[in-house]
Amino acid sequence: MSGARHLYVHLPFCSSRCGYCDFVTAVGRRGDHSSYVDALLAELALERELLAPELETVFLGGGTPTYFASERLERLVGRLRERFRFAADAEVGVEVDPRVTTAEHLASLAKNGFNRLSMGVQDFDPVVQEAINRIQPYADTRRLVEQARALGFPSVNMDLIFGLPHQTPETFAATPNVPANKSAAAAPSFANLPAIGKF
Ligand code: SF4
Repeated sequence: MSGARHLYVHLPFCSSRCGYCDFVTAVGRRGDHSSYVDALLAELALERELLAPELETVFLGGGTPTYFASERLERLVGRLRERFRFAADAEVGVEVDPRVTTAEHLASLAKNGFNRLSMGVQDFDPVVQEAINRIQPYADTRRLVEQARALGFPSVNMDLIFGLPHQTPETFAATPNVPANKSAAAAPSFANLPAIGKF
């Protein structure tokens, strides 16, 4: 089969900027993002011939895809499904931020065939969270994991980062002890790049 079989869709909007982040994203523009979605779909139509007739993976990242209202995400995914064929066993994933992701988002994602959630966590220590400008109570993450399990998502992973300010081997070792049975944890290292952003 010729053409790309994997599609990544970037949704560059967030509620606030995390201190370690060097992704392309705009902060605070909640709106309905319809002009961005329209432009994205127009671009995909232009690139269509580069894609294989059937997609094996589709991933919505960002940014914070669930900063979009759930009906806006539904519209985007509906349009993608109209224009591209997803393989029967396609992995359809999305980044979810527990600080803004609601039960409504998860129900909508499950209904629209998402089978992988990638959950940003980084570190549960409040001191580290304050230093990286990402205050994310443990209860919010736990709630989202439990809701995902109740809805039957087969794959839930958490993103952690080591090398953040105030982290110690002891605090970081405690971080993965979260309700993540059957889940994977990804732990990239942190590179402080002052030219891009610093604490
Ligand atoms: S939520 Fe993700 S994309 Fe947004 S600022 Fe934080 S790390 Fe960057």
